[in-house]
Amino acid sequence: ALSLQLKVLKHKKLVNISSLGFGALVSPGREITPGPQIVERDPHRCQSCGAYANLYCEVLLGSGQWQCVFCKKLNSSGGEYIAPSREAVRRWPELSSLAIDYVLNGTMHPLFPQAFDSRTTTPIFIIIDECLDEGHLQYLQGSLHAFIDSLPPTTRVGIISYGRTVSVYDFSEGSTASADVLPGGRSPTQEFLKAMINGTGIYLSPVRASLPVAHTIFSSLRPYRQKLPEASRDRCLGTALEVALAIIQGPSAELSHGIIKRPGGNCRILVCAGGPNTYGPGSVPYSFSHPNYSYLEKTAIKWMEHLGHEAQRHNTVVDILCAGTCPIRASVLQPLAKCSGGVLVLHDDFGEAFGVNLQRASSRVAGSHGLFEIRCSDDILVTQIIGPGKEAPIDARETFKNDSSTCIQMLSVEETQSFAVSMETRCDIKSDYVFFQFAIRFSTVFQVEISRVITIRLPTVDSVSTYLESIQEDVASVLIAKRTLLHAKCASDAVDMRLTIDERVKDIAFKFGSHLSELKLYRLPKELSSLPENLFHLKRGPLLGSIIGHEDERSTLRDIFLNASFDLSLRLLAPRCLMHCEGGTFEELPAYDLAMQSNAAVILDHGTDVFIWLGTELAAQEGRSEAALAACRTLAEELTETRFPAPRILSFKVCLVPS
Ligand SMILES: [Zn+2]
Repeated sequence: ALSLQLKVLKHKKLVNISSLGFGALVSPGREITPGPQIVERDPHRCQSCGAYANLYCEVLLGSGQWQCVFCKKLNSSGGEYIAPSREAVRRWPELSSLAIDYVLNGTMHPLFPQAFDSRTTTPIFIIIDECLDEGHLQYLQGSLHAFIDSLPPTTRVGIISYGRTVSVYDFSEGSTASADVLPGGRSPTQEFLKAMINGTGIYLSPVRASLPVAHTIFSSLRPYRQKLPEASRDRCLGTALEVALAIIQGPSAELSHGIIKRPGGNCRILVCAGGPNTYGPGSVPYSFSHPNYSYLEKTAIKWMEHLGHEAQRHNTVVDILCAGTCPIRASVLQPLAKCSGGVLVLHDDFGEAFGVNLQRASSRVAGSHGLFEIRCSDDILVTQIIGPGKEAPIDARETFKNDSSTCIQMLSVEETQSFAVSMETRCDIKSDYVFFQFAIRFSTVFQVEISRVITIRLPTVDSVSTYLESIQEDVASVLIAKRTLLHAKCASDAVDMRLTIDERVKDIAFKFGSHLSELKLYRLPKELSSLPENLFHLKRGPLLGSIIGHEDERSTLRDIFLNASFDLSLRLLAPRCLMHCEGGTFEELPAYDLAMQSNAAVILDHGTDVFIWLGTELAAQEGRSEAALAACRTLAEELTETRFPAPRILSFKVCLVPS
């Protein structure tokens, strides 16, 4: 759940060298092993700064008072912590464990168990693009049939399709498929939506009742008939989403304190799109050469952001799964997914990886109403946070008179995401330790409110080499890469950032490395030897390199990377390379050493893509090559079993060019 360096340097000037930086990666939704201690009562918090009592607090045995590690205030525990000895104090979980889950209401349900299926309580709306050519449609139909079959019988599903009009499928007719059709060019009126919701139609129905009809609906989808190019077809996705949100809210949605109280928890919208939103609210013109394009694009982005926030307010996550070669104008759709707490993923087609992602998108466990608070010792300053959240509004926070914490409102709480926290020191540190406390407050899918509190104490050191030794290079690489990618908003920025990476490596060598006297060269400190390799991959790879085709692909990948957990971030940054050996085992190879033997099979895991290469000599041997390929595929699937988005897995035969 947490990755950071293990020591803090006392000297301000050295800590704050921005090329290397100082920080942590926090995955609030990720399972902790061993699991956190569970406490079913309210936490003791510092009256002054709001920090939580923790294992580093001094406790006065006679009075049960505890001293805050951050502001040093002495707080009452209402006599609770009175104990005969120091050892006896440790029987309170929060005074002995670094990770605690406080259950603030209700009873404890499992939080993120693998076996638990959130889809039993989370309704799913499937929104389908009607403007697909026959080939794409066939793949999509296959994926949708498999998807609906994979859902538990109690999951409630709804189906909407959109083109120039919106068709909302009605499950009230028993075994026949029928749909209400409304115009897509403008937002539906409140009266219309009210009449629809209060009418006799059933638009969300449990799979157990609606399965045959759903299959009929998917089979009855027809390819696009007119002879317009893919990009020029009318797609009213905005209107379709407004209708879906209105149905999710239902007639009885009550607003209290800006949060919808609705039993049953969260909801998901899965959009299956083959092209951009070109008709009705939130749309952009077909052509970039439209005289008003940039103004209309800005308006569309604003509209989509607003809709995303509306969805989030109603506990609804919008995931947009795109496929095909038609540019989808990610700049407009991304804000919608992001503001709702969802993701936008691009696929080559609606086939295998798309189908897997439909299932993973629907089954990933997510909490809601997340707040992420960071407290640290006075000497430490949080300078930047990158991840799926935004600064929390004042009224979302609890008030303490001297609260100097950094508070982030999380858009969703998921195990596949993380926050990159960058920090600096305000002054040279005098004390032997600094403290960090990360508190994540969220509701589970069962609407149980949890506060997860993690408290860390790091020793401070004078010695630069001791400090450098404590740095986890992969974590440092990911933090540097995220800070760099944040500035790579468009393709030309990406080119600039490649140069920035070089400057960073030079600066790290200059400030922390050793001088080679005979030349004007500096050698990187040996403790950071793998850092330049990771950053070299970053420069050449899909995030900053020039190998990716369309701008949509680059910006989508960047968004996934900026929000991704440590593991996925590292794979997107630097690929992992595994060679299949005789006897069915695998051997890890350095990824820069891709000079492959022609009689071996190699897996290259690059996060959103996994490549399997068969050497020419091996490929020529029928039985052996099939066995190697199967072994590689199995391992690739195992390695990426819980990854979201699921990668595409591609196999190649290679002819090696002698070098
Ligand atoms: Zn305090």
